[in-house]
Amino acid sequence: MIVGASVVGSYLASLTGMDVWERNNGQKEKPCSTLISKRGYDDLLGRGYDDLIANKVKGAVIHAGKEELAVERKENVAFVISRLGLQRRLAEVAESRGASISYGRAWKGEQDEFVVGADGAASGVARSIGVKRDYFYAFQAHASMKQDPSFVHLYFGDYSRGLFAWSIPHSENEVELGLGVNGGNAGDCFRLFCSSIGVRFDETWKRQAALIPVFDASQPTVRGNVALVGDAAAQVKATTGGGIVFGLRCARILADAIRKNDLGSYERGWRNLHERDLRMHGRVRRFIDAADMPRLVGDLRNAEIGKTISLKGDMDHPRSLLASVALKSLVAPRLWKYLPQMMFA
Ligand SMILES: Cc1cc2nc3c(=O)[nH]c(=O)nc-3n(C[C@H](O)[C@H](O)[C@H](O)COP(=O)(O)OP(=O)(O)OC[C@H]3O[C@@H](n4cnc5c(N)ncnc54)[C@H](O)[C@@H]3O)c2cc1C
Repeated sequence: MIVGASVVGSYLASLTGMDVWERNNGQKEKPCSTLISKRGYDDLLGRGYDDLIANKVKGAVIHAGKEELAVERKENVAFVISRLGLQRRLAEVAESRGASISYGRAWKGEQDEFVVGADGAASGVARSIGVKRDYFYAFQAHASMKQDPSFVHLYFGDYSRGLFAWSIPHSENEVELGLGVNGGNAGDCFRLFCSSIGVRFDETWKRQAALIPVFDASQPTVRGNVALVGDAAAQVKATTGGGIVFGLRCARILADAIRKNDLGSYERGWRNLHERDLRMHGRVRRFIDAADMPRLVGDLRNAEIGKTISLKGDMDHPRSLLASVALKSLVAPRLWKYLPQMMFA
């Protein structure tokens, strides 16, 4: 049995035909900007989902204090997908391949040959096997606002301690404004964020709060006949809180393990393929947390690192980018002071 019929649970059901229990009475949209890398989209979803693409993105503008750094590619690098549309489509595909989804059915410890927790950040299945989690607290609002649809904007400031704030365009006139923090009241931080970037907070905006789990490699994802996947396993990037691409990739590995009747191969398999990247996101996170961000963004812009990021940047796999930035830093004296912090973060 799979617990949870959101993106990861439904995707896994489409690969295995397993039955799914979903506590909501139907597909309920999860608060999420649903920005995913083009590479992840092509690899995991592909053509059958093109009608769900709301917007295509070529780059990002990073803001910290008064400093800005723009990174851009000629081609599209990421897509904004309709969240509810994606949940519904994945559930339909699962059902068309023989999986049965029972809506309005909450898991409360029931057993089966395999129990897969795809039940999100506050996973009850994870708690049942003794997993402990830390969280970011996220808040987002769908706002009518003009913004160049080719760029997402990322903001670092006191309003988003521990993560960052964002403005992700869904079209020329609509954006998802949001942020994550590692403590305090995310709603209050959101109002502060809006006033800091000169946007008038509007009480009529559709607003949502949610948890983002913090990846912790020490926590198990398999115990006995129980496995965790997606946000339930915290397979989430610590830099951005994004978890769709890693969650779906890990679901593929879990599907293989279930077919082989060997859940241990799932724990080994996803860690072999993805744990280093997830740890690297954690390292970048710690580096950002310790940095004076306005100064760092200014220094990176002046050292023309934006070009390196544009060429080598990969939203999901930061290792090759970091190696290139480190190399470039060696010939940019203003960046030398960051090298020890980068190495020991
Ligand atoms: C504000 C915000 C913005 C985000 N933006 C992005 C983004 O732009 N890109 C990106 O890649 N990721 C983003 N994420 C992360 C992304 O939303 C998650 O990584 C992804 O949704 C994880 O999917 P999941 O299926 O594992 O869990 P969820 O989508 O959380 O689904 C869990 C499901 O389990 C069900 N469930 C829970 N408990 C039970 C139970 N006891 N019995 C039965 N069913 C149960 C729930 O009802 C739900 O349907 C964002 C997250 C937040 C909070």
